[in-house]
Amino acid sequence: MLSRKLFKKPKNRLEGEADSTVMQAEERRVACPECKALVPHATLQAQAYVCPRCGALHAMSARERILWLVDEGSFHELDSNLTPIDRLGFPSYAGKLSKAQEESGEQEGVLTGTATIQGHPFALFSMNPAFIMGSMGAIVGEKITRLFEYAAENRLPVVGYAVSGGARIQEGIFSLMQMAKTSGAVLRHSEAGLLYVVVLTHPTTGGVVASFAMEADVILAEPKALIGFAGPRVIEQTMRQKLPQGFQRAEFLMAKGFVDRIVPRNAQKHELAQLLALHQRGAMA
Ligand SMILES: [Zn+2]
Repeated sequence: MLSRKLFKKPKNRLEGEADSTVMQAEERRVACPECKALVPHATLQAQAYVCPRCGALHAMSARERILWLVDEGSFHELDSNLTPIDRLGFPSYAGKLSKAQEESGEQEGVLTGTATIQGHPFALFSMNPAFIMGSMGAIVGEKITRLFEYAAENRLPVVGYAVSGGARIQEGIFSLMQMAKTSGAVLRHSEAGLLYVVVLTHPTTGGVVASFAMEADVILAEPKALIGFAGPRVIEQTMRQKLPQGFQRAEFLMAKGFVDRIVPRNAQKHELAQLLALHQRGAMA
């Protein structure tokens, strides 16, 4: 039965506010960074975080990305017990870590595991853009390394979703060491004759670009993603010259041969399933 309250006007300011708070809880809206439209969160979630008005890609958390991408119920997480440590006692890092853990509901900035897409099995990593800017600490590097080792042992291809602000400065050299460590694991996986496909999402920068994110056999990217090592301002100041239009965007990198293909979000499942099917061992027989 319809409640009479539904049509009731608020008697005073406080009552009106209470009603609008309920509305907010029911219909959380997110401002689109491109067209500024206020889009209900539920609509964004149902459309893989693509703005229904302008098509801009909104950020996805590591877990949302996996749930959207893989066959339902097929994701089995690995190394979920690994948690970061403030080894250097870096100022305010411990607080930042617990805040990121609380807000994301995850232990670290990357999730790893196994899953299937359209029935094709693979090992998977998915980075979290919001977890201390998707930075690579020792545990991020360790989880990615272990994933490639697991994939090599179990003869699985790897699909990775990269997003990162770079190495995690709060972990100093322990963070930078991950570049060499992950690269070694990628190489051993590659030498075992196994496929690695990466999808570079906005933004993928710094130490991650200088290591495992650019070492895939097939490098895909989301439209307009910012991909680069150092930021454009740093490069302009060092080189003392103006950078071209669209520098470090996925489209620019594809034109220069650093990215193989730009794949819209709604085409990614199909594209990855096709790549996995093409490279499945024994598929030629
Ligand atoms: Zn929009």
